[in-house]
Amino acid sequence: METLQSLKKELFRCIHCKACMFSFSGEPDREGIGEYKGTLYEGMIEGCPSGTYYRLWEGYLNSGRMWILRSILEGNLEPNESVRDLIFPCPTCGNCQAQCENKLPTVDLIEAARAACVDAGVPLPPKTAALGKYVSQLNNPYGEKHEERTKWLGETKVKPKKDAGIAYFVGCTASYRQKQVAKATAELLNKLGVEFAVLEDEVCCGSPLFRTGQRKEAKRVMNENLKNFKDYDTLLFSCAGCYRTIRVDYPKFSGSKLPFTPKHTLEFVAELIDQGKLKFKGNYKKKVTWHDPCHLMRHIALDVEREDLAKSKNWFVDEREIKKRKDEWYELPRKILRAIPGIELVEMYRIKEDSWCCGAGGGVKTQYPEFALWTALERVKEAEATGAEAIVTSCPFCIRNLGDAVAAGGSKLEVVELLEVLNQVL
Ligand code: SF4
Ligand code: SF4
Repeated sequence: METLQSLKKELFRCIHCKACMFSFSGEPDREGIGEYKGTLYEGMIEGCPSGTYYRLWEGYLNSGRMWILRSILEGNLEPNESVRDLIFPCPTCGNCQAQCENKLPTVDLIEAARAACVDAGVPLPPKTAALGKYVSQLNNPYGEKHEERTKWLGETKVKPKKDAGIAYFVGCTASYRQKQVAKATAELLNKLGVEFAVLEDEVCCGSPLFRTGQRKEAKRVMNENLKNFKDYDTLLFSCAGCYRTIRVDYPKFSGSKLPFTPKHTLEFVAELIDQGKLKFKGNYKKKVTWHDPCHLMRHIALDVEREDLAKSKNWFVDEREIKKRKDEWYELPRKILRAIPGIELVEMYRIKEDSWCCGAGGGVKTQYPEFALWTALERVKEAEATGAEAIVTSCPFCIRNLGDAVAAGGSKLEVVELLEVLNQVL
């Protein structure tokens, strides 16, 4: 299991260059909102939501956080409430990790530092602690009744099959809050003639707990899900957080390979397009922009990169091969959108590896709602600048936070789940 101590060698590669606070469009001729001009940072744009929101005070930038963790490991600082208040307001978006030329696993480091605070007995921020309490009592972080987890199914005509080879892992947000995502997924699978199970025994994947250092309870739900889903060949996901957690964290924290193949609906649909099995009956005549959910797009691309780097002792690897694999991953949703008749896809300034976060993840929406909303408002402004009519994405948590920002900012943009779009044209 990754502890701060076990990541020491990785942490000490940090040279405090601060490159991790920026992102880029990748297109030098394209000017972004807020791009630096006439300074040393010409052409760069801020990419770290927490550092930017907290006015570039370095304790809230990744470079400062890495220095704090270094002080802890050098014995100059104890995990305490001041450390906690600097490392928890971060949605673990991973932009810093994507920008770092020294390839620091910054998200793992922040999460390990949060766990170190918990282990040292530092009290968690109150609403963050409530997430753990609700999951331990009710198996979801929303304080809802476990027996109502599959209630959304009654609002569809779908009849899941418990003995199918595929199970749909719905997740807490789609089960209790963004039910349209769960319904759209089930209805789409039904339309495609895919038999699948939905389990009443499904419990929280543990994502909010792994992200906030509450590892004991996270491992309890992990073991429960591994037991309940072990007989399925494939687990399908519509949630970015659940997919990332089960694909990346479960093998790491259980020490074993997954007993099933995890697959996000993006991968599933893209495969059907490649096989020529998706027949469109209608069209979706809208100009749309795509928002890359951090935990689905960037986190998985970074995981792919780490897998490839781990194959070489000295990291003497063909970077072009890694880039190709990462690009293929980032292209999945774009391939689907371009295949939908009528759609015009217009890209935002910060996309793919450089994408700006929606602001909801890592326990931020619960504990620091103003920061989460500000981050989403920034993304909505960026989406509006493209002239799009809708933001399409594939994560119930992004949909929730971007939807809140659209309402708060009086934007006319729609925020739509990609599967809802597909349901309209298939
Ligand atoms: S984490 Fe990487 S990019 Fe950020 S300051 Fe350290 S070395 Fe530089
Ligand atoms: S994970 Fe995102 S918000 Fe947190 S320090 Fe890195 S870039 Fe900033």
